[in-house]
Amino acid sequence: MPGADKTIYLSFDDGPHPEITPFVLETLRQFGAGASFFCIGKNVVQHPGIYRQILAEGHVVGNHSHHHLNGWKTGEEAYVQDVAQAAQQIATTLYRPPYGRITRGQAKQLQNRLGLHIVMWSVVSGDFDRGLSPAGCLTNGLKAGPGAIVVFHDSEKAFSRMRYALPRVLEHYGEKGFLFKPIHL
Ligand SMILES: [Zn+2]
Repeated sequence: MPGADKTIYLSFDDGPHPEITPFVLETLRQFGAGASFFCIGKNVVQHPGIYRQILAEGHVVGNHSHHHLNGWKTGEEAYVQDVAQAAQQIATTLYRPPYGRITRGQAKQLQNRLGLHIVMWSVVSGDFDRGLSPAGCLTNGLKAGPGAIVVFHDSEKAFSRMRYALPRVLEHYGEKGFLFKPIHL
């Protein structure tokens, strides 16, 4: 993110999840941190209370499609319809493509028809990677600099690594005087 002196933008993909998202919210609260949650539409349908809690705590939500589609394997119209379905659940101007895979045409359609801004990331924690240790995930998370957008996941697959790395990333940068803010575009 431009012009973001000593600010880091944490983001959490694939929720909301009934146990893992509350862990993230509690951890962020302990450090006075704001973040962005890129939610899957069908998970919002299943866990509307958790979704409302994210917003109630001052965080920002983004659209992460309804069925977590891979843009490279999905036709343009089907892709836009799936994101539009998620948009009925998630009030936002932010969109993050699952797997970071989206075609130029799909991105243009989302911008023109749904008014969405595509938000990627600059630092991958690798919390989703079952071959990575919790310490390795933390090492990745500590590669953030001013204006970095860091991606974690509030998902079962990522939890063992994320729950180790997240509080330590917050502590490390907090001690250095960094602020953690939600993305506003
Ligand atoms: Zn995802």
